[in-house]
Amino acid sequence: MKGAGNKKELRVLPIRKGTVIDHIPGGRALRVLRILGITDASRETVSVAMNVPSRQMGRKDIVKVENRELVPGEVQKIALIAPRATINIIDDMEVRRKMKVSLPREIEGVLRCSNPNCISNTPEPAVARFRVENGGLRCFYCERMFSGELTDHI
Ligand SMILES: [Zn+2]
Repeated sequence: MKGAGNKKELRVLPIRKGTVIDHIPGGRALRVLRILGITDASRETVSVAMNVPSRQMGRKDIVKVENRELVPGEVQKIALIAPRATINIIDDMEVRRKMKVSLPREIEGVLRCSNPNCISNTPEPAVARFRVENGGLRCFYCERMFSGELTDHI
């Protein structure tokens, strides 16, 4: 485990309890905050580091949220915009659990189909559902493919 380097990074702005999302592509931290529903009305203590030099990624962003654990839907959305992100669960100032996000085969309900005629966009009770294919998402209902920047749809 290449923990030494990571531990050093975490020491920069240590948190007692909460979640650290690391290895976010540079510039995408604000989208991660949006996924987490963090706005100017939020009361959580949040630290954001943007464009931190990274040997692995060139530059990366880091988001730390105190007293918060992520729910699976949030982790799925983060995986879409930051496929190499790592999530560190901190308790008592120690990394208790470290996990890599992974793209699921299918995602449900986290974003909408871009086809206005799709059944998932009608009053019919169909929850938006997508299959994850190389580099994109295909709508389960109308087969429309989202390609390019997934982040634009989140
Ligand atoms: Zn569709």
